[in-house]
Amino acid sequence: MNLPCPYRFPHGKRKALVMSYDDGSEHDRRLVDLFNCYGIRASFHLNSGRLGLPHHISPGELPSLYQGHEISCHSVNHPDLTQLPEEAIRREILDDRHALEDWSGRPVRGLAYPFGAYDDRVLALLPELGIDYARTVICTETFQISPDFLRWQTTCHHNRAMDLAERFLQDNGMEPALLYIWGHSYELDGFMSGDPSKNWDYMETLCRCLHGHETVHYTTTIELVDYLNAVRRLDWSATTVTNKASMAVWLHWQDNTVELQPGASMRLKHPQR
Ligand SMILES: [Zn+2]
Repeated sequence: MNLPCPYRFPHGKRKALVMSYDDGSEHDRRLVDLFNCYGIRASFHLNSGRLGLPHHISPGELPSLYQGHEISCHSVNHPDLTQLPEEAIRREILDDRHALEDWSGRPVRGLAYPFGAYDDRVLALLPELGIDYARTVICTETFQISPDFLRWQTTCHHNRAMDLAERFLQDNGMEPALLYIWGHSYELDGFMSGDPSKNWDYMETLCRCLHGHETVHYTTTIELVDYLNAVRRLDWSATTVTNKASMAVWLHWQDNTVELQPGASMRLKHPQR
């Protein structure tokens, strides 16, 4: 998806941060506590077939544990979807969605591909299954918005995030910048590992570095997708731009940041070229 207009994130912010965590292990409890403490928000991609098993969170925890964060699909049983017949792919995604919605009482419209694996067959099924974005494990090490929401690319895994977080905060360009970090909470329990990113102190340092910045919008993947779709629906004529969506959109136009309410139009001083 291209966004050919000079937009800003909600409340006129030029930068946005999303954390994205998979598998619903019991370590999500500690990670959510950390995120909540620092005002950081995340998307949690869950396998309904594993919730309630040892070392996983239980279905009954969903409504309260992930309050303020996104609950999203990761398939029922975590198979490689590209190896399944079409009907089984449908069941893995749709049954996951139904279970997560039942347990959480909230709509569930995102997906992270198990093992990051997808192909054209999987991709083609997603719209009919009600999936509005699907996250890969591709790391671009940039702050650009993923061009294709069904092949959502990340900035990096959390083990590479410290340097990129500093670069992100220092970035003083003109374009919208998104830092999108993915990982698994259990990796932070990596005792006996020589990898300095595999412990909770590392994650707390990262959260401390990223929290509370006036220029950063803290959000979840699905909220960002909804917002960017609203930006995409802006109606540009030669002399005006109209917000056709049901949420406010912020534009950066001729050195000013302007909030455009649903249904509102703004007169353009110069025709859009
Ligand atoms: Zn996974």
